[in-house]
Amino acid sequence: MRLRNIPGAKEEMLTSPFVVQEPETKAGRWREVFENPGPLEIEIGCGKGRFLSELAVRCPETNYLGIEKFSSVLLRALEKRKEMECRNLLFLRFDAEEIENIFSPGEVDRIYLNFSDPWPKARHHKRRLTSREFLARYEKILKWGGMVEFKTDNTKLFEFSLEEAEAAGWEILAKTLDLHRDPVLNEGNIMTEYEEKFSLLGNRICKLIMRPGESSKINKVGEE
Ligand code: SAM
Repeated sequence: MRLRNIPGAKEEMLTSPFVVQEPETKAGRWREVFENPGPLEIEIGCGKGRFLSELAVRCPETNYLGIEKFSSVLLRALEKRKEMECRNLLFLRFDAEEIENIFSPGEVDRIYLNFSDPWPKARHHKRRLTSREFLARYEKILKWGGMVEFKTDNTKLFEFSLEEAEAAGWEILAKTLDLHRDPVLNEGNIMTEYEEKFSLLGNRICKLIMRPGESSKINKVGEE
C-alpha cells in the first residue's frame, strides 16, 4: 500500500507522541519505552493500523508496536491512535529489512504479518516478509517459543511462505486455507483493512502460525 505523498506527513512522523524516534537506541529497552513490563508484540506492515488498534484495546497488558515503511500510510494509523485512550500502542516508520537493529535477541514475543505485499517477480522474493531472509531476522529477535502469525488471501504467497518456513526449519503450529470458516482459528479474529476488502470480494483468507525450530533454542538458553 502506498498512498500519494500527503503534505505534513513527514513532519507528523517527527512530532507525534505515538511515533518512536531513533528506534536503534531502543534495542533491549522497549518495555521501558512503554513503561510496562508486559509482552511485546509487533505488526510489520501495519498499514492504517486497524488490527493493532483493536488488539491493543482487547489486551491492555501487552505492548504493541506497529511498523510501517511509508509515512503517508502511517499517518492514517496515527489519526485513529489520537482518538484512543490506551498507553500500550506505539508506531514506527521503519523498513523491516533492518529489524535486527532495533530489537535485542529474544526481545519480541510475537510478530504479526497481515496481507504482506506479494512481490510477484522472482527477483523480488527476498523482499517478501515471509522469505527465509526475513525468517532469519525474526528468529533473532523472537523469544524462545515466540510465534509469527501470518494472514493473506494470496495463495501463491501462502504456499511460498510454507516452503520458506520448512526450508528454515520452522515449526508450523496451525494453518488454514479458509480462516473465516475455521471455527478454531477464526475465534477472536480481528479483521484488517485488507482482510475486509478481499473477503468482501469473495477471496478466502489463509492463516499460518509458526515459530522457529528447536535449533533456535541453542542461542536462547535460559528463556522459556
Ligand atoms: N497490514 C495491513 C492490512 O492487512 O490491512 C496493510 C497491508 S498492505 C498490503 C502492506 C503494508 O506493509 C503496506 O502498508 C506497506 O507499506 C508495508 N510494508 C511492506 N514492506 C514493508 C517493510 N519492509 N517494512 C515495513 N512495512 C512494510
